[in-house]
Amino acid sequence: MSLVKVAPDEVRELSLDPEDWESVRRLGHRMVDDLLVYLRGVPDGPVWRPIPEAIRDRFSGELPTEPLGADATYQEFRDSVLPYGLGNLHPRFWGWVIGSGTPTGALAEMLVGAMNTNVAGFASSAVVVEEEVLRWFAQVMGMPATSSGVLVTGASEANFIGIATGLRAQLGAGYRRSGVVGERARPMVYASEESHFSVWRAVRLLGLGEESCRVIRSNDAHEIDLEALDAAIEEDRRRGLHPCMLVGTAGTVGVGAFDDLDALADRARDQGMWLHVDGAFGAMLALVPGSEAPLRGLDRADSLAFDLHKWLHVQIEAACVLVRDPAAHRDAFAVTSSYTADSSEGPATQSNRFTNLGLQQSRSARGVKVWFSLREHGLRRLGECVAMNMAQAKYLAELVAVDPELELLAPVTSQVVCFRAVPKQLPKDADLNVFNTRLLQLIQVRGLALPTGHTVRGRYAIRCSITNHRTTRRDIDVFLDAVRAIAAELVAESGGAPS
Ligand SMILES: *Cc1c(COP(=O)(O)O)cnc(C)c1O
Repeated sequence: MSLVKVAPDEVRELSLDPEDWESVRRLGHRMVDDLLVYLRGVPDGPVWRPIPEAIRDRFSGELPTEPLGADATYQEFRDSVLPYGLGNLHPRFWGWVIGSGTPTGALAEMLVGAMNTNVAGFASSAVVVEEEVLRWFAQVMGMPATSSGVLVTGASEANFIGIATGLRAQLGAGYRRSGVVGERARPMVYASEESHFSVWRAVRLLGLGEESCRVIRSNDAHEIDLEALDAAIEEDRRRGLHPCMLVGTAGTVGVGAFDDLDALADRARDQGMWLHVDGAFGAMLALVPGSEAPLRGLDRADSLAFDLHKWLHVQIEAACVLVRDPAAHRDAFAVTSSYTADSSEGPATQSNRFTNLGLQQSRSARGVKVWFSLREHGLRRLGECVAMNMAQAKYLAELVAVDPELELLAPVTSQVVCFRAVPKQLPKDADLNVFNTRLLQLIQVRGLALPTGHTVRGRYAIRCSITNHRTTRRDIDVFLDAVRAIAAELVAESGGAPS
């Protein structure tokens, strides 16, 4: 395949900058106008809609060899891409754990894009901004001001970095040299069965294998069972293994439970283990005065991961990892090369500033968009949004609790509500898991709301995770009305009497 038809000696001088800056300026203004109209109208549309076949077919085209131009390309985006998002901008989106972003957050992404700076390190404003943001978060989370940190793509990456740092700190310089192969005693990592899959994947990818993953059962409150944990550590020591890391979860993805972090910190101290905390969304309780109790002990973590694109509503992707011991963080990730050697002056000072702390070399200025959001809204207002969602979850749980045909399936600690329909008229042999699976599908595909599913102790739940600053109580009412109406529909279909 040959795209360039000219011989090297007749290569044209060209650039990707516009020939007509004025037309790009007009297009940019149109984009901003269109997008703000779109964003404003989101609550009036369905939460989710399928991609029509005809639209899908537009994305099986040939190689785009010839230019289409910015105007026509934008038109395609507007018609075929923009309308078919996941739905997480809508007030009744409560699926998985996904933030809803903000209009000004979208504009901040544009600022980051325009700067297009590389925050591997080097001397630039974006480095200074990210450093300020990291200091703020250390303060919010009660970590020492001397903590090390880096902004990353998501809590999955933040967990990886925290766990990798902990392993390096626990296994020492030999780990860097010989990897886990050099370990005589198998390093063991402990986390609850309710912890996020990114924790176990990190352990696997770090070369430890599933035999190093000690999955500890959770108690009735869905927190890590401390007795089971103690027994596992003791047994592993007896077997000559090396218990080296505890991973606590502040806000489990399934039901929003909080492990007893203080108790985990005690064990980490007594056993000489590393404590990593996955606070993907739950760490945001630190912003809510009076609601910090579930986070007790968070400030004792050796490393802490949390998302900014979930409950802080920064545009995807944005998360943070903080590490108490800066030397441990650097030891795990530091690189050296002649092509990134530091100069004593100029742009190449601290060339690997952030490269030394994570997986990326080239990095976007995500600190700028985070900084923009924190400055624009202020931490108090962002915390109020967190508190509002918790109150809404409580409201939903209360409505469920008083309805004899609905059943709460897990306690509500933060913003996750798991419940199911238990219609009285359902035929006796009906399978409630099948019934609720169908009920959830219909709510989703009709665009009424977007909770997702989760199985709690064998019982299929409709799971609402309200990390959404657009949700109102009225949305909860509308949603429950839809649940009841569709449940009645399904009961009638299944031959039961309508209730
Ligand atoms: C979402 C989530 C993660 C993963 O975070 P990403 O930002 O999606 O990578 C990890 N842990 C918990 C508890 C989560 O809710």
